[in-house]
Amino acid sequence: MPSRKRAKGKARKAKAADRHWANVEQYHWKGWVLWDKEENNKSLTCNHGHNTIYPADSHPVYQFIDKLFVFDEKERHLLVNEEFERAGEGLWSLLEYVKQSYANHPTVWNNVEHRKMAMDILLSIGTNILERGAGSGGARVLANGCLLLEAFAFIQSKLDSVNDPALIATWDVNTNLDLAVYSALSSIRDLAGGKDRAVIRFFHKRLSCDCLKAKYAQSKRMEQKIGVCNTCRQTYLRMDLKICGVCRIGQYCSSECQSQAWKDHQDECKFLNLGRESVAWLTTQEEDVREVRRTKLIMKCNAIVSAKAKEQQ
Ligand SMILES: [Zn+2]
Ligand SMILES: [Zn+2]
Ligand SMILES: [Zn+2]
Repeated sequence: MPSRKRAKGKARKAKAADRHWANVEQYHWKGWVLWDKEENNKSLTCNHGHNTIYPADSHPVYQFIDKLFVFDEKERHLLVNEEFERAGEGLWSLLEYVKQSYANHPTVWNNVEHRKMAMDILLSIGTNILERGAGSGGARVLANGCLLLEAFAFIQSKLDSVNDPALIATWDVNTNLDLAVYSALSSIRDLAGGKDRAVIRFFHKRLSCDCLKAKYAQSKRMEQKIGVCNTCRQTYLRMDLKICGVCRIGQYCSSECQSQAWKDHQDECKFLNLGRESVAWLTTQEEDVREVRRTKLIMKCNAIVSAKAKEQQ
């Protein structure tokens, strides 16, 4: 006969499970944050090293995450919000999306704890998607969200440590968001063109558990590094692609594809290059280098912004 204590524990567990699934029914992404798995006939749950699970429904992070998903009632499938998915396809759409997200969720973007909580949830959901073999597409989009938050946090922390009043005076949150997008875009493109291997690697590197270790090792054996030509969208071995010498982000299968892309790429290229330079500048330790770069950067920023404004007139 089970002891009273154990019976009580069981009842409590059952209740907790009811609550869990009630939540999941209502807010479907929550069901993907923690997921039991079978191992050696035992049911295990790994939180992948992330402690922040299930913020209260009114929590800003909850609202932020909720916007990234939709639930297909008919198919009973959780889907990544299409708008979020499509934003990752190009520089301009991504900039627009991120600025909109900042306007809707300023506390999540600005608060260190909230950012971490949001990233933890995205990393847990992405890992569970990969672990359960639900296709890497959803996980890839969630990785984009993490990359943007990471880049924003990185630039903010550098800016905080620079302590340069003249620079801070010329800097606003839009500059920070712009630079975050520029510097995240190369990783986002790598993930988009890199098949499962790149996505699994992204999550594996950010976990403190070994949940994806075997999967990553397997994907490394199975897949070579590949990339997508930005013009013809065909997939090639990464080492066979030509990389734009200016921004080092645009990639093409041939000189034909590269010159065909130039008309569209030249604007984007300036911004991407600026992003790369700014991040390099923010991370340098040398005072004089920083001073020279700062002046150059502000000049360049102004030149590009006014050129862009002229074009739109
Ligand atoms: Zn884990
Ligand atoms: Zn091509
Ligand atoms: Zn370029």
